[in-house]
Amino acid sequence: MSLGTSSADASVLNAAQSKQKYNFNKLQKRLRRNVGKAIGDFGMIENNDKVMVCLSGGKDSYTMLDILLFLKKIAPIHFDIVAVNLDQKQPGFPEHVLPEYLERIGVDYKIVEEDTYSIVKDKIPEGKTTCSLCSRLRRGILYRTAKELGATKIALGHHRDDMLETFFLNMFHGGKLKSMPPKLVSDNGEHIVIRPLAYCTEKDIVKYSQAVEFPIIPCNLCGSQENLQRQNIKAMLQDWNKRFPGRIESMFSALQNVAPSHLVDNNLYDFKGITTQDGPVEDGDIGFDQPSFTTNSNAALATEESAIEVVNIVEPK
Ligand code: SF4
Repeated sequence: MSLGTSSADASVLNAAQSKQKYNFNKLQKRLRRNVGKAIGDFGMIENNDKVMVCLSGGKDSYTMLDILLFLKKIAPIHFDIVAVNLDQKQPGFPEHVLPEYLERIGVDYKIVEEDTYSIVKDKIPEGKTTCSLCSRLRRGILYRTAKELGATKIALGHHRDDMLETFFLNMFHGGKLKSMPPKLVSDNGEHIVIRPLAYCTEKDIVKYSQAVEFPIIPCNLCGSQENLQRQNIKAMLQDWNKRFPGRIESMFSALQNVAPSHLVDNNLYDFKGITTQDGPVEDGDIGFDQPSFTTNSNAALATEESAIEVVNIVEPK
């Protein structure tokens, strides 16, 4: 009896383990596919690039490094990877964690030690948010390091949800329709910054980093709170996601489907120069049509086609 029970237990355990493995493989494939697609779509990495992967010790940058190392092995092009961590001398920063991890996985790396923590504490009054100065200092140091290392690309670990949050932050608080680009020229003009996790969801990254058990370094060592407005936007998006499944995906699709002629920015579209034309205009006016509110392009196409049919029927011959 007891033998029967334990063999049943063992098969339940085996089934659970196989399911877990299956789910992990699916997750890993999805993340790898999303990173590969983003790299291809935006031309992030080219032959003979040296990619400096910025590693903070958080889940996002560990995941980015892990996937880039995999893609490096199978990519049809050659590129090098160097991981860089900036030790900002925050109290309690576990200095040994990243070098040990990087040695273990056998990747080239550099730890840059700069006491930005003291500068920030010195310059920013107690109780005020320190992130903006801290990020500016960090950015400057990372650009300098990229130059020293001869890196041609600087990879940052921002993901899809960071991009959407930034989009809403800029819209709500900055009056700008602007997100985090997947690829940009650094503000000093000297470097190309890439975000290979642009198509990856934070949920997938959390699950992956837990499954792989990256040695995560807590991100609150500096004692600063995460930007309150960002937290509010995050909560808003999470709430929408629960109540309206698919809305986040739809919003991210929207960021990739911009119609400047249907916004209100005179700098982006020459409204004053609009003239009538002989034929139909690409991206022309469908202002009198019912909005379809769908992200399915086939459905949108079908709506357009049926609209054309209606026009054909009623048009006098
Ligand atoms: S949370 Fe701390 S380390 Fe991170 S950007 Fe803000 S001040 Fe800098």
